[in-house]
Amino acid sequence: MIEIKNIYKSFKQKDGSDLTVLNNIDFTIKEGEFISLLGPSGCGKSTLLNIVSGLEEANSGEIIIDGSPIKGPGSDRGVVFQEAALFPWLNVLENVKFGLKNKGISESEINETALKYIKKVHLSKFKESYPHQLSGGMRQRAAIARALAMNPKILLMDEPFGALDEQTRMMLHYELQKIWLETRKTILFVTHNIREAVQLSDRIVVFGTQPGRIKEIFEVKAARPRSKNKGYLL
Ligand code: ATP
Ligand code: MG
Repeated sequence: MIEIKNIYKSFKQKDGSDLTVLNNIDFTIKEGEFISLLGPSGCGKSTLLNIVSGLEEANSGEIIIDGSPIKGPGSDRGVVFQEAALFPWLNVLENVKFGLKNKGISESEINETALKYIKKVHLSKFKESYPHQLSGGMRQRAAIARALAMNPKILLMDEPFGALDEQTRMMLHYELQKIWLETRKTILFVTHNIREAVQLSDRIVVFGTQPGRIKEIFEVKAARPRSKNKGYLL
C-alpha cells in the first residue's frame, strides 16, 4: 500500500517567487491497484510521480510504503519514463541486465531473468539491437522489460506511451494489461489522455484547474470486464 500523505511541493521561480505545484495531495493506493494520474500539462503529475519514486523531495508530507516512510529511491519501485531513457551504448539485453548486476545473483541467472522479460515484451529477436535501431514503441517495451526485470513491487510510469502512434499505443496497452494481470504489481500511471486512463485503470486521480489540487478520484473498475488470460476485453 502506498500512502501519499499531505504532499506539498513548490518550486522557486526565476523572479524569486514560489510556484505551488502540489498542494495537500492526499490519497492511498491499494496493493495491486492500477491507478492513473490524469490532468493537463503542467498540473504536477510528473512531480508527484517523482516524489513517489524518491527522485524528488516534497517540501512537506510523506510517502509511506507498506508502513515505512520512503527516504529516496528504492528497489521496490521501478520507473518508466516518457522517453525510454535506455543507455544508448548498450543493446537491449545489456540494458535489461544492467540493474540486475547489483542484485547479488549469478551471471547465468541475470541472463535468464533478462531474457524472460525481453520475451514478455516480444523483443527476443531484437535483444542485440541498440536503442537507435529500434522504433519508439520497441524502446518503450525495452524500458518496461528493464523495470520489470528488477521485480519491483510498484511500477511508476510517466506517460510511457505519450510519444507513440495510436495503433502502437493500443498494442502496448494490451501488453501492459496482460503483464499487470500476471504480476499484480501496483501501478501508478501518469497520462493526459482520458481514454488511456479509463482503459487501463482501476481508479483515476484527476488534477483540477485549481493549482496543485486533486479535483476528484473516481473508480472505473466496474465498467471494464476482465479476462484472466487475455487481459481486459477492449
Ligand atoms: P506534463 O503533462 O506536461 O508532463 P506535468 O503535469 O507532469 O506536465 P510537472 O512536470 O509536474 O507537470 O510540472 C508542474 C509544474 O512544476 C510546471 O509548471 C513546471 O514548470 C514546474 N516544475 C517542474 N519541475 C520543476 C523544477 N525542477 N524546477 C522548477 N519548476 C519545475
Ligand atoms: Mg509530466
